[in-house]
Amino acid sequence: MRFISRKAEVHECLDEARAENKSVGLVPTMGYLHGGHISLIERSIEENDITMATIFVNPLQFSEGEDLSSYPRDLQSDREQCEAVGVDLLFVPSLEEMYSKPVHTSVHVDNLTTSMEGRSRPTHFSGVATVVTKLFNITGPCNTYFGEKDWQQLQVVSTLARDLSFRINVVGCPTIRHSDGLALSSRNAYLTAEERLSASVLSRSLQKASELVQSGEILASVIRTLIVDEIATEPRVVLDYVEVVEGNSLGSITEIGPGARILLAAKFGKARLIDNVDPYVGIS
Ligand code: AMP
Repeated sequence: MRFISRKAEVHECLDEARAENKSVGLVPTMGYLHGGHISLIERSIEENDITMATIFVNPLQFSEGEDLSSYPRDLQSDREQCEAVGVDLLFVPSLEEMYSKPVHTSVHVDNLTTSMEGRSRPTHFSGVATVVTKLFNITGPCNTYFGEKDWQQLQVVSTLARDLSFRINVVGCPTIRHSDGLALSSRNAYLTAEERLSASVLSRSLQKASELVQSGEILASVIRTLIVDEIATEPRVVLDYVEVVEGNSLGSITEIGPGARILLAAKFGKARLIDNVDPYVGIS
């Protein structure tokens, strides 16, 4: 595995690979790697000749008062995991390498970014769209792998790639979960032992909602209420939102049909966790 900290070195390696007709897979992350990240990397390795993982904790996508300074980091473990799984290039740029100061340009995706995460974290998606645009330009034509765990982000990134005509194919990958259903997340590290036990209420509520949909319920309001009530059984949880939407446009729906998605966010002490499900599939 080659460890790279400079954009110019990425250009050199990947231009050379593409000149030899090799396909390139890109897996952007903020590090503190877990099985969810590794599943994206494995998919990229399966589908491409060269896989580049990136680790960059992007300050632009954190709002004032969020967890930028405490965001968990462990570069040594990340390097070892990347090496073990077979990453070809690991790109870990410094803040200065990514952003010349001050930053005058940002990328904004309309519409998809105003609800849910966008309502709770108003500057978040511009930060994501800007850094993803930069990573796409640094990498060049490739397949790129994003998790369905961040469903709204996946829609934003797919739309951005299409709208700006990037020669990038965005591939969505399923959410990897612990055995009790909790989605793997770097932010799970913030949970106390007790909060960790309560956190399974998120996936449990989404699974119960999916079962109700699969048994014929179509009213989004009924499904929402079921989830709100289930989450209320856990006193340690502060629910942020539960939304039933059309999965690609993210528009609210009143009746559930194919393509629907249920998304939620909740706080457990210091940790703000998100999850979502296709109610016709459920939590698997
Ligand atoms: P992050 O490091 O949190 O920015 O995540 C980097 C990528 O990993 C994003 O595309 C996430 O959606 C994806 N990811 C995070 N957690 C999971 C998970 N549990 N299963 C699958 N993908 C995930």
